[in-house]
Amino acid sequence: MDKIVGRFAPSPSGRIHLGNILSSLLAWLSARSKGGRIVLRLEDLDTVRCPRRYALQLEEDLHWLGLDWDEGGTAGQGPHGPYEQSRRTALYQAALKRLEAAGLVYPCFCTRRELHAADAPHRSDGRQIYPGTCRNLTAEEAAARKTAGHRAGVRLRVPEEVIGFADGHLGWYEENLAEACGDFLLHRSDGLFAYQLAVVVDDAAMEVTEVVRGADLLDSTPRQLLLYRLLGLPEPKFYHLPLLLSADGRRLSKRDQDADLGALSCRLGPEEIIGKLAFLAGLNPEARPCRPEELLAEFSWDKVPREDLPVPPGLFDGT
Ligand code: GLU
Repeated sequence: MDKIVGRFAPSPSGRIHLGNILSSLLAWLSARSKGGRIVLRLEDLDTVRCPRRYALQLEEDLHWLGLDWDEGGTAGQGPHGPYEQSRRTALYQAALKRLEAAGLVYPCFCTRRELHAADAPHRSDGRQIYPGTCRNLTAEEAAARKTAGHRAGVRLRVPEEVIGFADGHLGWYEENLAEACGDFLLHRSDGLFAYQLAVVVDDAAMEVTEVVRGADLLDSTPRQLLLYRLLGLPEPKFYHLPLLLSADGRRLSKRDQDADLGALSCRLGPEEIIGKLAFLAGLNPEARPCRPEELLAEFSWDKVPREDLPVPPGLFDGT
């Protein structure tokens, strides 16, 4: 079997929180339990939201938790550097050029406000489906708008086609992208490359063979698979893990400040945090403290629930 390469791909826009820690733990266990390697890539395309000090803090936090990596990080060790997306834009530009040369993309002048105001169809989760406003602009029309000072993003022409894949944890998932999201952005009008493009270019360039991440990104995967196919890149295997829910049933997020490592580490040590997460994720029968290595021998995706995980009140309070 080919060598397994897993990855941590955090967006360092604040202190790591319980959800990120669980994703990192499962990415680490999934790769390491098969003798694989781990790459750390910093998804800091939005450099305003992701200043370098957060990346350095994140590295310190992962070390403290006992989640190590073999390649990447701010030190940039390894053959595929740099490992900060903010320093890899030439690669995204090259991929975009290839799609452009194949006639698969077009400039889009719609502003967020216009899209909001437009009576466009929405998905059940409230997200808008791009109505195709700029899809058929002629080259002359697009050039005239650019000359008039309008800034363009770049969208991918999405085919009427169902794209599906077998998730390593959640099973079969498919979407008709034309119905689910429409033509999606690869490059934003403010000059930032979109996550969907950057993540595909990087996972392929870094030879990642398995992507482990939260189920909130499950519906990004068909878009990414389309890009893999159009760019002729090898597809990794995907594993999406359940999300952690707060007592009132919301998804835990960066806004839950008592769930970020700054607050957690005032109350708990690394082995307590890992032990409690392992318990929640079905990897340990009780919430006893442990190090990630202690979970390796018994690790199996089959033990991890498929439904979202409510965090019992008080579980992460001090002991
Ligand atoms: N950078 C993304 C995040 O922190 C994760 C991207 C991925 O795992 O594909 O939410």
